[in-house]
Amino acid sequence: MSIPNIELNDGHSIPQLGFGVFQIHPRETAQAVSEALEVGYRHIDTAEMYGNEREVGEAIRDSGLDRAEVYVTSKLNNGFHRPDDAREAFDRTLAELGFDYVDLFLIHWPLPTLYDGDFVSTWRTLEEFNQHGSARSIGLSNFQVAHMERLAAETDTVPAANQIELHPYFLNEEVRSYNEAHGIATEAWSPLAQGEVLDDPVITAIAERVGRTPAQVVLRWHIQRGNVVFPKSVTRERIRENFEVFDFDLAPGDIEDINGLDKGESGRIGPNPDRFAYVPS
Ligand code: NAD
Repeated sequence: MSIPNIELNDGHSIPQLGFGVFQIHPRETAQAVSEALEVGYRHIDTAEMYGNEREVGEAIRDSGLDRAEVYVTSKLNNGFHRPDDAREAFDRTLAELGFDYVDLFLIHWPLPTLYDGDFVSTWRTLEEFNQHGSARSIGLSNFQVAHMERLAAETDTVPAANQIELHPYFLNEEVRSYNEAHGIATEAWSPLAQGEVLDDPVITAIAERVGRTPAQVVLRWHIQRGNVVFPKSVTRERIRENFEVFDFDLAPGDIEDINGLDKGESGRIGPNPDRFAYVPS
């Protein structure tokens, strides 16, 4: 099955479907990533915060694939927004992965209540990584519209992507449509709401009618709306199932019905980025 690429605003492109490794224990990560690569995934989403960059790098090297064949994203951890700290953290990410570049590097959270509200100098530091070629593309994660407006006013580089919580219970439409209007790719994290949406009667009814699983229906909904997704699983059958979403279509009415499940703010499963201030010790 071939995975479509989404063109980014900087001339690079990203496979629309990838494999996420949040909450996969480092001991299980190499195995899970190896299985994903065997199934055909060519895009892995990790982060310094997940503690498993090393195992991601190992699995990619052990696969025998060329580095250039696998798209790798990592993210700047929350404790390292100051420029010097960000440079060190980025070097650590490359060393852990064992690569001399990442395809995409993101600021994991804006942390507007920390660092005197300064995420602008952090973004300028990512611009350096991009200019050096060690981050082929740079982007954001969990940035709200006001945060992106500030970057647009004060810096030169339009982010290539913004990775945000987005699933049928939380469409996050204000941020998604800002991304779209400004040529910023939307990456949907927790695309399955960590499994919460999979027994929703609207989803299960569509799944039954089209002869697919609820997870495949939800992932297909994301794909048809243009989101980049990287569902997480450590179960081989599910890793495969989540990959098989390019040989069927949902009807426009099905897409509308799933859109209708949006619960607004109360549908969030993760923290609100305007208030989130967690820094790992
Ligand atoms: P997800 O929505 O991908 O859900 C994963 C869970 O859904 C699994 O643990 C499993 O319980 C269930 N599941 C997966 N496939 C299934 C299937 N086929 N059938 C039934 N159940 C299934 O949640 P996630 O891991 O939180 O998000 C995916 C990725 O997004 C992460 O691994 C990470 O890469 C990224 N992420 C980023 C941020 C951020 O702040 N940038 C936050 C959370 C997640």
